[in-house]
Amino acid sequence: YTGKTGSELLTEKLKKLKVSDYNSIPIVVEENISVYDAICSMFLDDVGTLFVVNKHAMLAGVLSRKDLLRASMGKQDLTSVPVHIIMTRMPNITICKKGDLLIDAAQKLIDKQIDALPVVQDVNDGYEVIGRITKTNITKALVALGRDEHL
Ligand code: ADP
Repeated sequence: YTGKTGSELLTEKLKKLKVSDYNSIPIVVEENISVYDAICSMFLDDVGTLFVVNKHAMLAGVLSRKDLLRASMGKQDLTSVPVHIIMTRMPNITICKKGDLLIDAAQKLIDKQIDALPVVQDVNDGYEVIGRITKTNITKALVALGRDEHL
């Protein structure tokens, strides 16, 4: 018997959970696609956040549901507005890495009041998007921990 309390054991298990254990596939769009096409992509790919990349496939921005709703409220033709005009852009993007603790990614979601983080890796001149962490991934980890079924 280790003498550890239940909550100490739970904390220990929680601190073993990594971003790479729970991340999802990222849905990525190019910065010159139209707001209209981004809306279609968000709907068809069934995600709440799209990651935007430049022509070198490097992370350039983020598009949330409300970013696209806001852009749709005006009178512009959505097929002629490129998403780079309305996205939240680098360097103001909150990111995480696959080796990060899931709890630290969850803390970033709370601190920044956002729904998703891109999982990135460093490349020569920026970040390559390799995954996605959302509140859903955090919820799945919580349920797995509660059922003692996690990795
Ligand atoms: P919604 O706007 O649909 O409620 P979010 O709360 O995720 O969704 O987004 C709020 C704002 O924060 C949006 O303008 C969005 O572009 C931005 N945002 C979302 N994710 C990130 C992120 N990882 N880093 C920086 N900004 C983000």
